[in-house]
Amino acid sequence: MDSLIRRGLEDIKPYEPGRPISLVEKELGITKAIKLASNESPYGPFPEVIEAMKAELSNLNRYPDGGSTFLREKIAEKLDVPLKNIMVGHGSNELLRLIANVLLNPEDEAVAASPSFIVYPTVVKLMNAKLIEVPLKAHRHDLQAMSDAITKRTKIVFICNPNNPTGTIVTKGEVDSFMESIPDKVVVVFDEAYYELVRDESYPSGLDYINGKNPVVVLRTFSKVHGLAGCRVGYGIAPDFIVEAVNKVREPFNVNSVGQAAAIRSLDCEDKVEERSRLNYEGLRYLYSEFERLGLKYIPSHANFVLVDIGVNDRLASKELMKRGVIVRSGDIFGYPNYLRVTVGTPDENARFIAELEGVRKTLLEGALR
Ligand SMILES: *Cc1c(COP(=O)(O)O)cnc(C)c1O
Repeated sequence: MDSLIRRGLEDIKPYEPGRPISLVEKELGITKAIKLASNESPYGPFPEVIEAMKAELSNLNRYPDGGSTFLREKIAEKLDVPLKNIMVGHGSNELLRLIANVLLNPEDEAVAASPSFIVYPTVVKLMNAKLIEVPLKAHRHDLQAMSDAITKRTKIVFICNPNNPTGTIVTKGEVDSFMESIPDKVVVVFDEAYYELVRDESYPSGLDYINGKNPVVVLRTFSKVHGLAGCRVGYGIAPDFIVEAVNKVREPFNVNSVGQAAAIRSLDCEDKVEERSRLNYEGLRYLYSEFERLGLKYIPSHANFVLVDIGVNDRLASKELMKRGVIVRSGDIFGYPNYLRVTVGTPDENARFIAELEGVRKTLLEGALR
């Protein structure tokens, strides 16, 4: 019966999400597990956002506003971008897929860094198009090599900034030269899921390039610092021709009404977002100092996660950590064997991760000596 499935899906691997806390607790018969695996905010939605969501519940007999008008207006106003250039999606993941849907013919190519966000290969292969993967250089996008990888067939370049899984950024200067070097018709997609968390002066906003010679799409999300991953709301700023094409193929009610209400309210919480960004930065500093104390190398990050070289098998270590109620991602799935990718949690969660990591490393190192 496999032959009934459309050609081209053989190469696509299902996305493997971080395991939800409740499932892990049930399977292992444990309680008080913590999840530092999916780069979510360790804090819930802001209190006023929860109120806005509650107020929406009694209207759930109605379809949502299919055009997400108030949310798009709010984003347009906040970013000072025309309303017609704003699109919203069921997370920015949906927008990535829609962009591929409307741009890629089977003979087309897209360019992305590797390792980078695992959704890019999926959406490109879904269209039977070809993804050219350009290795990171010193854990960062090699924009020169990515520019060199562009051919006549290239339609899209994905720039994941900060990059997931490494947390590294490309600078304004680097992006400026890159944008100058590429042919006019290439669409550049800046995936800025962690935008609000970056505290480095040299970090560019993709919005700096929307009026340049190339079509540019900037993607952001409510899933990370806003603490609304479960609501599935992301947004994009894109040229008219892309927004219009996306509107033809997207699901008519792609963002639910609770999500729209939450996102609208959350956009007003700038001070609280800034506070969380600062807390995240402090969390990173804490993790770095503990890694240094343990003699572990890590890749300095601009996001809410960090890759750390734990010097023991990452699959075994993440399994062992899971048994102790700490859910993290093993680095091998991202091409970083012996690393863990850990999301910054609350101060208590970070301390618990470090304590359990010390225990797990001790066990695994002793096991290796035996
Ligand atoms: C988390 C993440 C997203 C956001 O996905 P949503 O669908 O908005 O939840 C997008 N891009 C990258 C690189 C991410 O890490």
